[in-house]
Amino acid sequence: MMKKRTMALMMAAMMAASAMTGCGGSGAASSNAGSEGGKAAEGEQVTLKMHLHTNNKFTILDKDGNILPVYQLAAKQTGVVLENTANPVAQKSAEEFQLQATEKFPADIYGGANLKGPIFTYALQGAFIPMNDLIEEHAPNIKKYLEENPEIKKALTAPDGNIYMLNYVPDGEAGRAYFLRQDWLDKLGLSMPTTFEELETVLYAFRDGDPNGNGQKDEIPYFNDKFEEMIRLANLWGARVYSNDSFQDRIVVGENDKLYHAWTAPEFKEAIAGLNQWYEDGIIDPEIFTRKQNTSRQTLWTKDNVGGMTHEWIASTTSYCHNEELLKAVPDFKLGVMLPVNKNGKGFEEHQRAMMKPDGWAISSNCKNPEAAIRFMDWFYSEEGNRAANYGIEGETYDMVDGKPIFKPEVLKQGSVQTYLEQNYGAQLPIGFAQDFEYEKQWTSPEGLEAYNTYVNADIYTAPYTPILNLTAEETEVYDSYLTVLNEYQNERISAFITGKEDIETGWDSYVAKCQELGSEEIVKVYQAAYDRYLAQ
Ligand code: CA
Repeated sequence: MMKKRTMALMMAAMMAASAMTGCGGSGAASSNAGSEGGKAAEGEQVTLKMHLHTNNKFTILDKDGNILPVYQLAAKQTGVVLENTANPVAQKSAEEFQLQATEKFPADIYGGANLKGPIFTYALQGAFIPMNDLIEEHAPNIKKYLEENPEIKKALTAPDGNIYMLNYVPDGEAGRAYFLRQDWLDKLGLSMPTTFEELETVLYAFRDGDPNGNGQKDEIPYFNDKFEEMIRLANLWGARVYSNDSFQDRIVVGENDKLYHAWTAPEFKEAIAGLNQWYEDGIIDPEIFTRKQNTSRQTLWTKDNVGGMTHEWIASTTSYCHNEELLKAVPDFKLGVMLPVNKNGKGFEEHQRAMMKPDGWAISSNCKNPEAAIRFMDWFYSEEGNRAANYGIEGETYDMVDGKPIFKPEVLKQGSVQTYLEQNYGAQLPIGFAQDFEYEKQWTSPEGLEAYNTYVNADIYTAPYTPILNLTAEETEVYDSYLTVLNEYQNERISAFITGKEDIETGWDSYVAKCQELGSEEIVKVYQAAYDRYLAQ
């Protein structure tokens, strides 16, 4: 296997070298390509310059500077020679993209995470080409996919009716869930809460009953890896907090398709007053606002054994049930999953995987061969390409067993299967492709799968979901001018209300007034217009 891999890399290096000599003649290699439509003519070499920079670290190159195997395969199958133009040592993907904007996007294809806003802005100025006709004529797999998924097609379509970008579409329904220490419940003789009142009883019992058994009142009944996620506890009082899988989007769908700002709603005030009570009573982690992100489970479970409950991603959270270091320190450690409760009505889970992420790729107006570019992108929607984008390379990362791709044990052994695939193979990078949840199921623990099934089989995904909305250039300007400052202001004031640094009863009205001054209602208006267009499509 090793030998085969080395050979493939050598081949790629040779191809890249020949592409480079070909490039001396300013793109002569591709000047007459694509005239046949569909496939490249026999022996014809089409060079595509790829600027994919994502998650502040990934390009299409591996650590040694070779094109990642999934992209090598895509190039081979579509008759393309790939050339990376993204800086592999640059650490800020957004800055790299802006740099390209100043150079007027010289590469053929641009891709990465969180590019939807920027790509739309520049596309409306003519920097990226509409793909509609290209898809119709040269991309049978994309065409079929969009026909079968009209909601995705709607979400991809810009206000002018064009598709400028193909986005990453995650799979799977449940994302985060409420997890409680089952070993603590057992120890205290309590059962999994099914109402808000039962949950409060449990959290106060975690605080007072010494469930970790060390004789000290050191338990932290509720914690999170991010304080923004803790604020979502407002759901337990019936208030909405976020509109989709993003802490930035706080405009939610209310009755009669009317949008409103969740963070200025009266029920949100009641919820924050409740969270203030919990904080002052020692129910919420006192360090919730200052803890380093993504460290709390490790610290409060593995290191200190003081954490009781959290609301976090199912797969990563349940992986602690099999964490050797943790089980050595806390042999009884056990997690149970709680369905959402609601003090003022029916429990609902607000967090879901996004229908579509703002990640993906687009074709520059400078692309010399758009047909080849769309053909390359189309491959990722074919059966073979979709499998490669999800699972990597057959025989190396997975084998076909009874017609299904099954990861090899050495892949499943990795600390993070996703990072391993991204870094070494280029699978799961956020390009335009449809994720297959089966990929994740294979590395999710039995506890995680049970939690996942419990959530998707319960009637809890009832909060209206705001689709990814496509703003016009003017709307984007309004949105961009208000959003960051408004969100930062809200984080600060709401945090002060929760910690009690500021009294919510006396401070709420001035908080709402200031939010309006900072554009909360302007953003609602922009979103409402985009949402109305979305519904009318
Ligand atoms: Ca204790």
